[in-house]
Amino acid sequence: MTQSVTTPPSSSKRRSKWQLLMANRLAAAGLFVFGFILVVAILAPLLPMPDPNMTDQPNRLLPPLSQGHLLGTDHLGRDILSRLIWGTQISLIVGVSATALAALFGSLIGLVAGYARGVTDSVLMRFVDMLMAFPYILLAIAIVAALGPGLLNALYAIALVNIPFFARNIRGVTVSIRNREFVDAARLSGKGHVAILFTEVLPNVLPVIVITMSTTVGWMILETAGLSFLGLGAQPPTADLGSMLGQARAQLFTAPHASIIPGLMIFALVMSINLLGDGIRDVLDPRLRSGALDRPLSVTRIARKTTPAATLADAPVLVVEHLSTGFANGGAVTPAVRDVSFRLGKGECLGIIGESGSGKSVTALSLMGLVASPPGVISGGAVYIGGQDVLALRQQELIALRGARVAYVFQDPLTTLHPLFPVATQIAEAVMAHNHVGKREAHQRALELMETVGIRDAAERASAYPHELSGGQRQRIGIAMALANDPDIIIADEPTTALDVTVQARILELLQNLRRERGLALLLITHDFGVVAQVCDRVAVMKNGQIVEQGDTASILRDPQHDYTKRLIACVPELGEGHAFLDRVRPLFEEAKP
Ligand code: ADP
Ligand code: MG
Repeated sequence: MTQSVTTPPSSSKRRSKWQLLMANRLAAAGLFVFGFILVVAILAPLLPMPDPNMTDQPNRLLPPLSQGHLLGTDHLGRDILSRLIWGTQISLIVGVSATALAALFGSLIGLVAGYARGVTDSVLMRFVDMLMAFPYILLAIAIVAALGPGLLNALYAIALVNIPFFARNIRGVTVSIRNREFVDAARLSGKGHVAILFTEVLPNVLPVIVITMSTTVGWMILETAGLSFLGLGAQPPTADLGSMLGQARAQLFTAPHASIIPGLMIFALVMSINLLGDGIRDVLDPRLRSGALDRPLSVTRIARKTTPAATLADAPVLVVEHLSTGFANGGAVTPAVRDVSFRLGKGECLGIIGESGSGKSVTALSLMGLVASPPGVISGGAVYIGGQDVLALRQQELIALRGARVAYVFQDPLTTLHPLFPVATQIAEAVMAHNHVGKREAHQRALELMETVGIRDAAERASAYPHELSGGQRQRIGIAMALANDPDIIIADEPTTALDVTVQARILELLQNLRRERGLALLLITHDFGVVAQVCDRVAVMKNGQIVEQGDTASILRDPQHDYTKRLIACVPELGEGHAFLDRVRPLFEEAKP
């Protein structure tokens, strides 16, 4: 039984930074509001408005929508709209300049301190620590009090108290970059320190500077307004948002509009800048964009357009139908696994084979909803275990199946085993996760399992830590953990890739024996046709997230239909012949064509 499927052209495309920013609705709204405020503030000199400082005592405190004064007038009869727009312009200029100054000096301090280390680092950082030792708004007030009130002095004060933010952030990043290989290479090529700092280190630090700027500028506008509110910033008759608020305070009850209007403007300005800043940060930091820093959901997000039948009569142990999984990238989903279907009976072994990146691991993880989400999304299909669609189960029920009915064995046991616990303790933990047994009993069971997987002197090895075992022994521990709860299905994702050839043969033999003795269904993922030929009854060949061919191992080996399968088979070394490698260049060229 051999079937062949053709591959449609890949539909994934990368989206530009601008598209990603616009996909974030909050950031787009922030940009829209901020853009509008910015344009109006810039156009202030051209707008047909009365002079913002022209007093008109008879028309004091007019309410909004009065004739000639759209937003009314303040306590000296000055037009509030005109003062608002000019005031916004001044607040923006001061806030943005303060940010630029703080970014310039803070980043410079951070770069030099992080790159030079030693005494320079200590001196600069103690200066920064000194600034940080005071509550910074208090420090700003003290500075303005010393320099004398005025907008320019407020600007200097705000810039100065914000330098530590930039210096600390940038220094941290610089320290981690200065020891990287490309900096060493630049040093070896004879570049001077200044050149290295500005051509090698700075470009790598720049996104962090931009992110810090975009997230602090709103804050600095607020601080400027705060100083002006206290009478330390803009001096009469000049209006900025803070001083408007401060002067209108006295009439808060008789003419609330005079303080509410600048208050709303400060709110809109700072809010829109912060939303936009957060959006920019997410776009510039790819880890944030993919959601990797969020806590992943306990089950992959499932967003199926159609709901398949919840149960399947007369089904073998595992049936996968039309499974599709992708990764959310902004608003769009980039598919990684498309329309994958296969079946696995009791005691049977199905091999999934394909080159690195073909979607094997994502397929395996999707079965139990283990793909990290965000960004993972299961966008279609069903996974029937014992005839029941597990993707339709409630979260808790699906989680209860993990390890109990379906167990995983991963590639590198050194990364999956906990380095600080003895191996038997970790197996016992797996036992206790699904059984109500005491510690002693679980430990006893762990020893039995260690013997089952062929670890000699199990009692002695029980207290060993993962790093004290060989690679093959570690993988045996991994298999013992998978066996802990007598699962029906074991999914082994490249279980022998990290091992040398002789150990690989033994581990495969172990899996093979366990399968026979316990009637386990084995889903074996590998990139090596040699492994498949040795262990699997049937094989599914994956390429670009799709199964291009599946059938009996023997018939596929004898008569591969798909060109890709032929090339994979050609990679298996044969005694007496030279090595053949997968022709990687050709598929790359094929994919590059539009
Ligand atoms: P393999 O066949 O080597 O096991 P995987 O299943 O790990 O390949 O990956 C399949 C595809 O999914 C790859 O193209 C990879 O780029 C993509 N992918 C895997 N994990 C993520 C992730 N967290 N975010 C985005 N794409 C991913
Ligand atoms: Mg993989």
